[in-house]
Amino acid sequence: MGSMGENGENQPDLVSLAALMSRELRSEKMEKPSVRCGSAAQSRKGEDYFMMKTDCQRIYGNPSSTFSVFGIFDGHNGDAAAIYSRDNLLNHVLDAIPPGLRRDEWLQALPRALVAGFVKTDKQFQSKGLTSGTTATFVIIDRWTVTVASVGDSRCILDTPDGSVSVLTVDHRLEENTEERERVTASGGEVGRLNVIGGPEIGPLRCWPGGLCLSRSIGDMDVGEFIVPIPYVKQVKLCNGGGRLIIASDGIWDSLSSEIAAESCRRLPSELAARQVVKEALRTRGLKDDTTCIVVDIIPPNNSMPPPSPPRKTHSKLRSLLFRTKLHGSSSKLSKKLSAVGIVEELFEEGSAMLAERLGNDDTRGPSTSGLFTCAVCQVGLAASEGIPVHAGPIFSTNSKPWQGPFLCVGCRDKKDAMEGKRPSGIKVI
Ligand SMILES: [Zn+2]
Repeated sequence: MGSMGENGENQPDLVSLAALMSRELRSEKMEKPSVRCGSAAQSRKGEDYFMMKTDCQRIYGNPSSTFSVFGIFDGHNGDAAAIYSRDNLLNHVLDAIPPGLRRDEWLQALPRALVAGFVKTDKQFQSKGLTSGTTATFVIIDRWTVTVASVGDSRCILDTPDGSVSVLTVDHRLEENTEERERVTASGGEVGRLNVIGGPEIGPLRCWPGGLCLSRSIGDMDVGEFIVPIPYVKQVKLCNGGGRLIIASDGIWDSLSSEIAAESCRRLPSELAARQVVKEALRTRGLKDDTTCIVVDIIPPNNSMPPPSPPRKTHSKLRSLLFRTKLHGSSSKLSKKLSAVGIVEELFEEGSAMLAERLGNDDTRGPSTSGLFTCAVCQVGLAASEGIPVHAGPIFSTNSKPWQGPFLCVGCRDKKDAMEGKRPSGIKVI
């Protein structure tokens, strides 16, 4: 088909073009699930914030480029960081995506843009000199592709029609995350529990200076700089059965397991489902903390119902596959396993706290026509002499070149060094 024969070479090409077009049309139809969402919250400290936006457009004015964004921001020591992140994180992420990309290129650019957007949000919030910090669990849905970025412990789970429940985030809690504990300690932080003088140690593991239980967050300028805003990012493509996301603050997850949260609201439409999950959490443990839940249904075309209640026979096997996830560097191995199972296709996963690793190498973003470089994090324009390659310094690997992008401005380069434990004080300096 479509081969360049000596005779009638147009004919086979036409046939294949027609086939291509019909396939394209079919996939266009296939590729437009609808998104329904609902939220519910019970407040105790008033520090949980969330966002739901279902009308974002990749190409302004083009409704077929619509995507949705959801976020949970569980603040601590005040609500300023949570509010600032809710209001600015999306723009900071979108600013870091080069213009003019096709959908597939745009989706590929998202993981890196999310890293840049999280770091920029943290840096800009800290420059205000306000205390407080926040978790951020940020979900971008473009047709069947779900991209989740998170710092802290506001979890996002995926319930698919076959009955498997998987966690799309990693909890950045010192108590539970050994790798993060090791990273923080290696960067100069001290991890321990509160200690009443002469009495026993109490409460969860915390990091000093600052006493935070989380190893990653946005804001928190009064803790060590190894408490970084670099998100764990996971990108999956759902099969055409769709699925349900439950995004919630730890008020839910301290009460309910992922499976119980998913099971408690199956068959209910998203708005009722969110209320049901909150109700179930309160029933189990009472209102101990701010408790916020967003339920998002990704519904195949011609199917107005939420994902049906599934048979559960393959459940435990799938769970073990989905949970066999290292913190980083395991994406290719894992995606093979998941594709073989045919539930969700795993497109990307990375959790490293090293900014240089997350921004990668970049040949294509040399100086623009105006002769300017752009800081890969905060997007400020830099004269050629000002840009500092992200891989410059003692640790650049053999396959990177010091004159190669991405580039950072002086402020972002300082922040990168500090996050990697290279600023001796360990205290954030703006
Ligand atoms: Zn910068």
